[in-house]
Amino acid sequence: MIKDNIGNVLKTLPDSTKLIAITKYRKDEEIQEVIDAGVLDLGENRVQELTAKMSRFSPSVRWHFVGHLQRNKVKDLVGRVHLIHSVDSLRLLRKIDQESAKAEVVTAILIQFNIAKEPQKYGFSTEDLSEVMAVLKTCDHVVLKGVMAMAPHTTDTAVQREVFRKLKEIYDRIISDYDLKNIAMDTLSMGMSNDYAIAVEEGSTAVRIGTKLFTGEEK
Ligand SMILES: *Cc1c(COP(=O)(O)O)cnc(C)c1O
Repeated sequence: MIKDNIGNVLKTLPDSTKLIAITKYRKDEEIQEVIDAGVLDLGENRVQELTAKMSRFSPSVRWHFVGHLQRNKVKDLVGRVHLIHSVDSLRLLRKIDQESAKAEVVTAILIQFNIAKEPQKYGFSTEDLSEVMAVLKTCDHVVLKGVMAMAPHTTDTAVQREVFRKLKEIYDRIISDYDLKNIAMDTLSMGMSNDYAIAVEEGSTAVRIGTKLFTGEEK
């Protein structure tokens, strides 16, 4: 069943788009089915859940952190996580750099944008880009791989498409305007169960899907 759901999603994704299975709230048996189906990129939105699950599943899983990250939890992730999708403040960016330096690792990150400026969501505004990049320039132990955003919860596909298009513009602008040693752009993280098809049309290279893989439903 989960295997079939994964197959249904994968057949609609271009080869260039990675499927990240969001495993929050799911039972170990269900998560193991995802791994057995060959999906090795898994994502969690809580640090404690991620680190606990990390010890229970195959070491070949690449763990992605996609939730709001508190600075006092950063040390639990550096050196263990494949990619942090949700860098949403300058203080968090500096903290990831500091903790990575201490651990003598380089941490791969995405900058999260709150494109639709929703009050309940975290993330930078488009206008913050130059300030973020000025801080990034000072961070030797971080590598910027791309950007992430969530579309508003709506069935209005025009609204979703607009958000994804604006995030793609930021992604392209970083590539064209910023030439820093610690930039290696390859990840445009956008699209969830209810809107991933549109995100893919707008150029997503990484969709973060939970519900649809585990239940076959969009929500
Ligand atoms: C939960 C979550 C997802 C997956 O959402 P679904 O609707 O279950 O596909 C993707 N991204 C983030 C940041 C999430 O917290």
